[in-house]
Amino acid sequence: MKILVFVQQEEGKINPVSIEAIAGAQQIASQCGGSLSALTFNASAAEAVTSYKVEEVLLTEDTALDTYSPLHFVKALQNIMEAESIDLLVLGHTYEARDWVPRLSARLDIPFISDSVGFKSKNGLTLVRSIYQGKFNADVAVPEGKSIVSFQSGAFRADSIESGSSSVKKVPVELSDVSDNIRPGEKFQEAEQSVDLSQAEVIVSIGRGIGKEENLQIVKDLSGALGGELASSRPVVDAGWLESYRQVGSSGQSVTPKLYLALGISGAIQHVVGMKGSKNIVVINKDANAPIFEIADYGIVGDILEIIPKLTEKIQSA
Ligand SMILES: Cc1cc2nc3c(=O)[nH]c(=O)nc-3n(C[C@H](O)[C@H](O)[C@H](O)COP(=O)(O)OP(=O)(O)OC[C@H]3O[C@@H](n4cnc5c(N)ncnc54)[C@H](O)[C@@H]3O)c2cc1C
Repeated sequence: MKILVFVQQEEGKINPVSIEAIAGAQQIASQCGGSLSALTFNASAAEAVTSYKVEEVLLTEDTALDTYSPLHFVKALQNIMEAESIDLLVLGHTYEARDWVPRLSARLDIPFISDSVGFKSKNGLTLVRSIYQGKFNADVAVPEGKSIVSFQSGAFRADSIESGSSSVKKVPVELSDVSDNIRPGEKFQEAEQSVDLSQAEVIVSIGRGIGKEENLQIVKDLSGALGGELASSRPVVDAGWLESYRQVGSSGQSVTPKLYLALGISGAIQHVVGMKGSKNIVVINKDANAPIFEIADYGIVGDILEIIPKLTEKIQSA
């Protein structure tokens, strides 16, 4: 099986979801048997990818590919997949991928198994997709022939990526006949004070257990002491106590920090789906049966209003 992972970048800076996709593609190649190459549209991104374990890094440069352009991306990938006889294209499930990859799938008339959260390698390749707001996982067997798969942020850990050394191969494509009648508008700008929780290493997340808005200060103090970002479950945002960009979960951000503190959060699936990829999960909840304990690495059964100030004090004095 010939596997190609597409590395999304902006001005040479690789999208973190693409790093995770490379890690996932490496695992597919080793468990299902296959050769793995990477493709990117930027020379410095290509250079960076040579330090990962891939057989070669394909580089396609064209001014039409310097910034996002769905029709040019589709044509480039169509040509490269055909010329290189690629069986499986792997991508991170970014906003851009959602936009242009279905068109590529239709153009090549091959399936696109999108937004997968993992894979199984028994009896061929099977993708795992989360369905019904994360309540169930569905196994989707990859049919014989060619396919495209995208992986959700957090499906693989970026730090599980294998290092290696490969060289860059330039792959020119002819794009002069591509129409430019789909042009992206200006990039969506996050609200001025928004934070990108997906990049945070430490997240202190608060749930309805905080009780009232005035109690939030103790959580802010803890977050400050840890040098972390403040986040929350949905009820805290719905109540207007924190900004909507701080919400973690299926209708908020997906996060994969090194440390996630879940304070007064019950563990509803819509929340868990956005943070279960965190490396260390510390839970404080007064209900020993709260479902969030099922995914906790460390758990404390107790009252957050008592424990948080003491924890902050200890951290500050340490
Ligand atoms: C379509 C849809 C999308 C959704 N998207 C999201 C989403 O993106 N993110 C999200 O978070 N939710 C989302 N939800 C809501 C989700 O279903 C839950 O309602 C929500 O996650 C619950 O938040 P919570 O855990 O803070 O509150 P609760 O479920 O009310 O839990 C509060 C917890 O705090 C504990 N507690 C109370 N007081 C204390 C105390 N003093 N000390 C310690 N523990 C205490 C309780 O034991 C309880 O476990 C969505 C729902 C739907 C239908």
